Amino acid sequence: KQKGGQAITVFNFNKHTNEVMNKPILERELRKAISRKELTLYFQPIVHVETSTVHFEALLRWFSPKLGTIPPDVFILVAEDRDFIQLIDEWVIEKACEFLRSLNDPKAKVAVNLSPKTLAAPSIESRLIEGVSEYGISAEQIELEITEHSLLKNEQAIIYKLSRLKEVGFSVAIDDFGVSNASLNYLRLLPVDKIKIDKVFIHNIEKETKEYHIVHSIISLARKLGLRVTAEGVETSKQAEMLLESKCDELQGYYFSKPVDEHSLPEAVKELQSR
Ligand code: C2E
Ligand code: CA
Ligand code: CA
Ligand code: CA
Repeated sequence: KQKGGQAITVFNFNKHTNEVMNKPILERELRKAISRKELTLYFQPIVHVETSTVHFEALLRWFSPKLGTIPPDVFILVAEDRDFIQLIDEWVIEKACEFLRSLNDPKAKVAVNLSPKTLAAPSIESRLIEGVSEYGISAEQIELEITEHSLLKNEQAIIYKLSRLKEVGFSVAIDDFGVSNASLNYLRLLPVDKIKIDKVFIHNIEKETKEYHIVHSIISLARKLGLRVTAEGVETSKQAEMLLESKCDELQGYYFSKPVDEHSLPEAVKELQSR
């Protein structure tokens, strides 16, 4: 009903298992989604505490006229499973570059998510480098968010690739930090600039909880390693306050702004800066 018109949602999502009913239809529709212009990039502001500036995380949205709105963790999983996630991630990179060109501000920055399979693909390096040069922006304006399980296979190759990307100016963040059982090992091995503490740790930091101490320790560890830290999933002023006290560098979450489309973004940023 929410979508209006003839849109019906024929899927049952189980948020916890990401289980999708009717996978073949989902896959078939998703393969056509790019050319039919059903995918859109949303942007969520990430607030830099010290400078009160923002950059943006690019987050995919799929509004299918046939199937309704499908959450990204659901369709990304299908694309990863069926091996066309690279196509989608490359589309995101291109759109992010296009968005940055439209801003015409060399200080503007966008973070894009790279799936493990995309990161492993041989052509991703040249796509990124050609992307920024084609759109007349610089590599410093793109941050690559990679998840911890990216590294399971071919660890050395990934380390070299990330080093080369950093050399030409891209920055690298470890996404969902803390939820993988190998977090500390990734921190030891990976050439990264930043970690993003997963939102499961942020939800319960109000009091002197376990999560509070974990987050506090992650931040001080990161500082000792010379890394920046972002907290994601910040939903309340109290959480923001605790994170500021712990000297977290960057904050992201519904408390500041939800992900919004390109056209609503200036308004969202203005609202943020008036606080
Ligand atoms: P992620 O990279 O960890 O992205 C952060 C997710 O947290 C986003 O969900 C965002 O909307 C949500 N979020 C932000 N602030 C809050 C908050 O205060 N509270 C809560 N509860 N959630 C918050 P979203 O947009 O549904 O994306 C889900 C996941 O899908 C992403 O998790 C990422 O893993 C994947 N994804 C999204 N876009 C892309 C993409 O372009 N490429 C790839 N490979 N993956 C993507
Ligand atoms: Ca991310
Ligand atoms: Ca994340
Ligand atoms: Ca995630």
